[in-house]
Amino acid sequence: MTVQKLAELADFYGVPVSELLPGGAAPSPLGPTPKLVIDLERLATLPKEKAGALARYAATIQSQRGDYNGKVLSIRQEDLRSLAVIYDKSPSELTEELISWGVLDAEARRAVESF
Ligand code: C2E
Ligand code: C2E
Repeated sequence: MTVQKLAELADFYGVPVSELLPGGAAPSPLGPTPKLVIDLERLATLPKEKAGALARYAATIQSQRGDYNGKVLSIRQEDLRSLAVIYDKSPSELTEELISWGVLDAEARRAVESF
């Protein structure tokens, strides 16, 4: 098939030319978006003034899931947005703060970049 024909086909289907080539779309070199994983043991060591709201939020999710044994808790991206409102910060500011507390892994930055 000519390059011209390929470009026309891609245009017809409204997809990038790369979608029509073998192998499909190139995977992101960084891999899938990482999860937001709260370190519950670390969280328990932090003063209530700082971490009280996050601790209550995490406890609510644990109770909704019926999951009380974990040392870590994966939260939804939308939960980080809600927590950012509670803490009166942007999601990325809150992420930086939680990383500095040792509650989130540095990988969490990439989860927030995709917001
Ligand atoms: P729901 O949102 O209706 O989800 C029902 C069930 O679908 C969940 O039961 C879980 O088994 C599955 N599920 C939903 N989303 C995911 C997901 O992203 N990953 C995985 N692995 N499973 C998923 P579960 O865990 O017993 O939770 C019961 C209810 O508790 C949920 O109902 C939701 O209302 C609330 N909940 C649980 N975890 C979270 C959370 O992290 N954030 C929020 N905002 N709500 C949560
Ligand atoms: P995960 O289980 O690996 O899910 C990754 C993403 O796939 C979720 O990101 C969500 O966008 C989508 N997803 C998976 N299952 C469902 C589902 O049943 N319904 C819907 N609407 N979307 C689903 P998200 O929401 O940011 O959650 C991140 C991680 O937090 C999940 O990773 C899981 O480990 C945890 N999680 C979130 N919600 C629940 C829940 O309701 N129950 C449990 N047990 N875990 C949850």
